Amino acid sequence: MEAARLGRKVVLVESFPVLGGQAVNSIIGTYCGLYSNGTHGYQFTHGIADDILRDLGKQDRALFYRHGPITTVVYYDEIALSRWVDRTVEKEGIIPLLGATMHRVERDGRRIKSLEVVTRYGNVIVEATGFVDASGDAALAWLAGLPCRESENTPVYGTQMIIVEGIDESKHPARPDMAAAMKEHGEKYGLVRKEAISFVIPGRGVAALNMTHTETPLEPLAMSVSTLKGRDQADRAFRFLRDHFPDCFDKATVRAYGMPGVRQTRWLKGKTQLTLQQVRDGYRHPDAIGRTAWPVELHDKSDGHLWQSFPPGHAHYIPFSSLTPEESDNLVAAGRCLDADLAALSSVRVMGPCMAMGAAAAHALDIAGSGSVHQIDIAELQKRVSDNLDRKDAPWEVRDEQG
Ligand SMILES: Cc1cc2nc3c(=O)[nH]c(=O)nc-3n(C[C@H](O)[C@H](O)[C@H](O)COP(=O)(O)OP(=O)(O)OC[C@H]3O[C@@H](n4cnc5c(N)ncnc54)[C@H](O)[C@@H]3O)c2cc1C
Repeated sequence: MEAARLGRKVVLVESFPVLGGQAVNSIIGTYCGLYSNGTHGYQFTHGIADDILRDLGKQDRALFYRHGPITTVVYYDEIALSRWVDRTVEKEGIIPLLGATMHRVERDGRRIKSLEVVTRYGNVIVEATGFVDASGDAALAWLAGLPCRESENTPVYGTQMIIVEGIDESKHPARPDMAAAMKEHGEKYGLVRKEAISFVIPGRGVAALNMTHTETPLEPLAMSVSTLKGRDQADRAFRFLRDHFPDCFDKATVRAYGMPGVRQTRWLKGKTQLTLQQVRDGYRHPDAIGRTAWPVELHDKSDGHLWQSFPPGHAHYIPFSSLTPEESDNLVAAGRCLDADLAALSSVRVMGPCMAMGAAAAHALDIAGSGSVHQIDIAELQKRVSDNLDRKDAPWEVRDEQG
């Protein structure tokens, strides 16, 4: 969307027949990392984030702002977001290529020349001057034969999200009560993960449950088996909630199972790598293009996850050079396939900073044209994305009315 707004001709290749990535299809349900810490912090990322907040904010109960305890998190209705993405893609004149899985990349030395995608209705070749790898799994970089990274010893678990409807919101249990019950009874239900997290947008009688841990191997058969196991785990988690919190969940039913939620698999090797130390120090790189203060949220244990939050006033940054493989002139990553160490990635992969990376990728390729993204004027790029680096406003009186 950011590239189309710069007047570029854009093709969006998506292997699902539905747009929106995990935000829509895995039913993630909340925008994290979008605000500075504190209960009413300022907005870190603008651009399309402003449009989403404005347009969904006008719809009845499509957004809910949860202020605190650490930061502001924005809950969204995934169906409203799905249609917003569809309409915006059409309005911006983006060419959608849906149900289209990229399976081959042609490279001429340092430049990516084209992608070949397979669809149910035949193969398509997409040629372009510049490419954004927003595949989550660094599929483009990997198929182009560029160096990629995977976690060697530490697994990073995904989650099967489900939506349940017909809950009694007024009886929704407090998080500590859910956590305590899960700790005590989770084993009995055969649950791998012993954490119970439920998001509710007030007034809709619906909860998004984030209560499972599933393996997300980069191997087709193993991933298929894991997908079905994830759904079974989600059913077990829901049974646990109905048994232990019947006042809220007894009349509820499952409305939707999201596509498997994948946190980290493979990511590209950038010119530089964002590190945990830089995240902790709030280091602002000379080529910073985005920021967040989201905690380190590493799902490296089957039964729980590591959570390290930061104080108010903290921000950490994403360097442009972590989005660009050294060996290519016209490829920029956006989203969770940037180069960061495991713990740093577990923070900057949330959707606030993902949108900042998308904006930076679009502007960098626009500036580079037929040249190299490694030779662009970084000051010019930072000027273009300055809202995502330095702006500090939070018009809460308006937002709260909408939310
Ligand atoms: C369970 C779970 C809960 C999370 N909770 C939150 C949260 O509460 N708030 C938050 O902000 N973030 C959360 N995150 C993180 C966040 O959702 C993701 O990191 C983010 O959505 C990543 O966006 P992305 O665009 O990089 O990748 P994705 O959203 O995964 O998009 C990549 C797209 O590329 C497509 N694709 C992949 N390979 C190919 C190919 N070969 N050909 C064609 N298309 C391809 C995929 O189909 C997909 O649509 C959560 C993640 C998970 C898994």
